[in-house]
Amino acid sequence: MTSEGGNHKRPRIETGNGDSIARIRPRTWERILVASGVGFRVYRGLLAKRSEVFCDLFSVPQPRDSQLVFGCPVVHLSDTDVALRELLDVLMCGKRYILKNDVELDRLSYRIRLAHKYGIEDLLEESIRELKKLYPTTLSEWADLRRHYSPRAITAVNLARLTKTHTVWPSALYVCCQLDDHYLVDGTTHPDGTVERLDRDDLLRCITAKVDYTHLFTDAIHDLFLHLDSPSHKCYSKATCRLLFRCIRGEARSRSFAGMAGVLEPWDKLLDKYDRKKTSDIALASLCELCTTTLRAHTKSRITDTWADLPHDFGGDYDDWNEGGATSESDD
Ligand SMILES: [Zn+2]
Repeated sequence: MTSEGGNHKRPRIETGNGDSIARIRPRTWERILVASGVGFRVYRGLLAKRSEVFCDLFSVPQPRDSQLVFGCPVVHLSDTDVALRELLDVLMCGKRYILKNDVELDRLSYRIRLAHKYGIEDLLEESIRELKKLYPTTLSEWADLRRHYSPRAITAVNLARLTKTHTVWPSALYVCCQLDDHYLVDGTTHPDGTVERLDRDDLLRCITAKVDYTHLFTDAIHDLFLHLDSPSHKCYSKATCRLLFRCIRGEARSRSFAGMAGVLEPWDKLLDKYDRKKTSDIALASLCELCTTTLRAHTKSRITDTWADLPHDFGGDYDDWNEGGATSESDD
């Protein structure tokens, strides 16, 4: 940066083609956004075009004695610098979002909060679509996800509330019911230092549902084996199967009493151990074919019913829940 005439020591910003922006237009094109003590020098036109809130913010006349940095007016924001960087990154570079881990979920939450706050509708819609993929409405989509139990579900509940994305609530609240109690009480902390906690009503819903799900799970085990023990069930090898029922019941119950109200957890892994066609452990006795088929069908149908009732468990009733999902659980 050099000063040509010596009288006006205005810093120049060089563009790729050698023109000087400072020469083309006065510095009102630029603003310094300050978040958590970190300054971001931005072109106001780009942000104003995407966000009416920024547009209004930038059009407020600056008082004569307002703070200037590099000759640019300073605008202080209440956001964290990490969240603002994420927003600016996606607005400037169009960065795509990949659902892989909590880091990505943290970024998604920054985008949703700031896009909502600054009224950047297209980014908000795109980000909510990504959130919905993590907390879907059908059981088949849920089963395909494979990673469910992150404390970031608390963030998802709050984002769903903020943006009125009601379909995200049931499965996000269900995940909250699977978390260790300290997360429900203390919340979850994002890398930018912000802490997300459930509000009082959602916390109460989770406490109630957690107990209900544990009851539901133990009831399901009881009913299931009662049915298998009944004379109408024509088991091919009663002595062996009854012995194995006891093992399966014990393993299933220990999962439940380990603090998991996991009523949507698939039984496949557990049942595979006792299925002649699936197990690699030949030393382990297997259930007869009829018991295997019956157990798989019953557990699957329980999970399907539980999924269908999920919104109801948290005080909601949505027409668009489980659309096309009731018949999609035909196989593994
Ligand atoms: Zn049997």
